[in-house]
This record gives sequence, C-alpha cells and structure tokens, in this order.
Amino acid sequence: MAVTAVTAALVTGAGRLELRTLPAQEPGPGTVAVDIALCGICGTDVASYRTGHLHSPAVCGHEWVGVVADVGPGVAAPLAGQRVVVAVPPACGHCPECRAGLGDHCRTASLVARGRDPLAPAHGGFATRIVVAAGRVLPAHPGLSDEEAAQVEPAAVALHGVRRSRVRPGDAVVVQGAGPIGLLVAQFARAAGAGQVLVVEPSPGRRALAATLGATLAVAPAAAADAVQEATGGLGADVVLECTGVASLLQGAAELARTGGVVGLLSYLSEPAALQGAHWLARELTLVASNACTHEDVRRAMSFLADGRVQAAPLHTRTVGLADLDATLRSLAAGAGDDVKVLVDPRRGPAS
Ligand SMILES: [Zn+2]
Ligand SMILES: [Zn+2]
Repeated sequence: MAVTAVTAALVTGAGRLELRTLPAQEPGPGTVAVDIALCGICGTDVASYRTGHLHSPAVCGHEWVGVVADVGPGVAAPLAGQRVVVAVPPACGHCPECRAGLGDHCRTASLVARGRDPLAPAHGGFATRIVVAAGRVLPAHPGLSDEEAAQVEPAAVALHGVRRSRVRPGDAVVVQGAGPIGLLVAQFARAAGAGQVLVVEPSPGRRALAATLGATLAVAPAAAADAVQEATGGLGADVVLECTGVASLLQGAAELARTGGVVGLLSYLSEPAALQGAHWLARELTLVASNACTHEDVRRAMSFLADGRVQAAPLHTRTVGLADLDATLRSLAAGAGDDVKVLVDPRRGPAS
C-alpha cells in the first residue's frame, strides 16, 4: 500500500515538541525515501528542547537506521529494500575546501551534516519516513541489530573525536562525561591503544557502565584531579576528551591534562566557555575541536561495532514511540532517570 502521509516530530521551541502529519513526498532525482526503523535521541536534540536553541529541522533526529522504501531517478545505490544508516556524504570535490585538497573539511558535506543543504528534508529522523540525498546513507552492516545500527552515527562522531585528538598507543586518556558519546569515546580511545582510560562522571550507574565497557577507572568529578594525578605519576593526562557539553567544565578538562597535552572538545557547548589563558599558555596545551564526522568515519565506526571492539547495545536503555517523545525529552532535559541512549521507534504506539 502506498504511503500517503508521514508523521514527524519536531522540536519547535523550549519545552515544545510538535507532531506533524505531512504528505508523503516522492523521492526526487538523486534522493531516496527511507522508512525509519529507529532514531536515537542525541544530546543536541535534548539541548534544543531544553533551551529552545534550534538547529535545522533536518537534524532534529539525526541518528537513524531504516529501510529504503523508494529511490528517485538516477539513483544507482542504495536499492529499495536495503537497510541503511544515516551518514555524512563523501567529500563533494567541488567546494573551496575540496578544491584546496581539504576533503575532510568539505563544506558541502558539512552543510549536509548540519541540515543546511538544498536537499535537506523538512524534518529529521523522528518520523515514519524521510527523503534524503542518496549519498547520505550507507548500507547497514548485516551483523548489527537495529538498536546498534541506530548508534552508528554517534559512534562515528566519537571515532572522529578520538582520531582528531591524536590518541596514541600508551596514552593516559581522560574522558569527561559518560553519556552516550563519552561511553563510545572511551571505547574508541581504548581501541586506539590508550594505556589508561579514566572516565569522570557524576552518575554511579554510568560509571559502572563505563567500567564494564573498558574504562580502567571511573570516578566522580570531585575525585578526578587526585585520580588522574595518581594514575599518571603526577604528570596529568596526555589527552582529555570533553564530552559533557557543559561550557563551565572545559577549563576543568584542561586542568586534568599534562603539560604539552591535548584537550579535545567533542561536545557542543551552547554557552561561552571561560578559559584561563595563562594556564593554557604556561602548560602549552593544545585545544582540538571535533565536529560531527566524515563519511569515512561512518564506515570505520560501523566496522568497530560489527566486530565488537566497540559496543553500542549496552548503551541502549529504552525505546519509545513518537507519542512518548515529548515526555521523554522532558525527562532527559531535566536529567531525571538513568537513561543513557533512548531510541525512538516512529511506528510504535503510545506506552500504556
Ligand atoms: Zn548528535
Ligand atoms: Zn567539498
């Protein structure tokens, strides 16, 4: 039966989520229609809901897996019926960055990742169906469950951050914040050969989860400075990866790094961060910012999830339907409950 309508949920302001019914759109040239199976709730979705600071509607729900329902003219891949995950397209080859040989910083791919390209859909993955450029999806690895495949995008973001922050074999790495990104970052740091991975996190439940996923130590923030000093013989960490999204914690991250160390900013800070410039200067610290991921990161992250070196399944705490998304975002925005990664199944009815 042809699908005639799409239900989509959009954050439209602080504490406001709207469920919209839109006419189903035929995929145009170069695009595919995907029936969403699961879409993860990202910290940026929660931050938009809490603050009313809105990103493009196309990225309200940007961690999804689904099945290609239909392909538009000129699309050779993927095929209808194929299970796919959302990705960032490959470098375009035509933008100023690509022409300068800086494909990892392709402007077009970055616009797509931020939902600001001409083919950006009017909503994100909190929807029964989405129409996107064919280059935005990759075949899902057959060994991944839908729950794992829906976390390929955040895994790619975590991998991107670890690669950009230049974690090297034997490094002492601190991961600040054990939310979904921090827990994936800790695992990629371990896979990159980090000698120690120290996770700093206030929630005891998340600390316990970090320990089961390969953190060598997981401590509360108040204990972090002493723990890092002790673990590194008084030097400080080689690399500190900030994954909390709390602007006031960026300087604290720097204080855990050794002289000459690296601070990786992997989270989106919606507030300005106050930094002690004299401290950064005296310690010759390097700040590395990491935004989203590349096409290559998505491919690579998928292989780490498929062979079990990085695990996403333990992060998944529950699945909700669109009707329960508002209450779920409210709870996540309030920091209530023990959720880590909540997935949305757009076809699921309301919880009774
Ligand atoms: Zn995200
Ligand atoms: Zn480009």
